[in-house]
Amino acid sequence: MDYYDLIIVGAGPAGSTLAHALQDSGKRILVIDKQDFPRDKTCAGWVTPAVMDSLDIDINHYGTGRTLQPIRRFRIGMMGQSAVENDHGEIVSYGIRRCEFDAFLLDRTAVPKQLNTPVKSIVRRDGNWVINDTWERP
Ligand SMILES: Cc1cc2nc3c(=O)[nH]c(=O)nc-3n(C[C@H](O)[C@H](O)[C@H](O)COP(=O)(O)OP(=O)(O)OC[C@H]3O[C@@H](n4cnc5c(N)ncnc54)[C@H](O)[C@@H]3O)c2cc1C
Repeated sequence: MDYYDLIIVGAGPAGSTLAHALQDSGKRILVIDKQDFPRDKTCAGWVTPAVMDSLDIDINHYGTGRTLQPIRRFRIGMMGQSAVENDHGEIVSYGIRRCEFDAFLLDRTAVPKQLNTPVKSIVRRDGNWVINDTWERP
């Protein structure tokens, strides 16, 4: 049995960001995901500049070798009606690919990762939580 202070199930943006925020906390942290990374995730792939800021992502660094499409204007329309033009002048969003974005967030996180591993059981045993009969946290 391996012991951790925190076991995060799901290595998407939520899980990897939590692990990243706590990686220097001194706690033993494990991230588990049922899929290997990079993995595809259904998404429109729009991420706002505010999100990039809050995730502390350097745009120039991220955009090197990854898709990062600045979006300043777009049209909204309904079938049979004319489209409404939205021109914001400044960047209101970026187009990203989730396979790249999620892998970037996970790769920069320096905690142990157990990928390609579905969590199938979480049981309470002797006051601890036991995951897949393999990992345990108090
Ligand atoms: C069609 C669509 C379009 C979207 N477009 C946008 C957009 O343009 N912009 C935007 O900001 N958001 C968009 N979203 C929302 C965005 O995808 C989610 O908010 C985001 O993915 C949530 O991140 P998360 O880390 O919580 O979950 P996820 O990214 O879903 O990650 C969860 C992870 O948990 C893992 N997992 C699940 N069950 C288990 C298990 N039993 N064992 C181990 N691992 C497990 C999965 O493999 C997955 O990697 C869209 C969503 C949909 C459906």
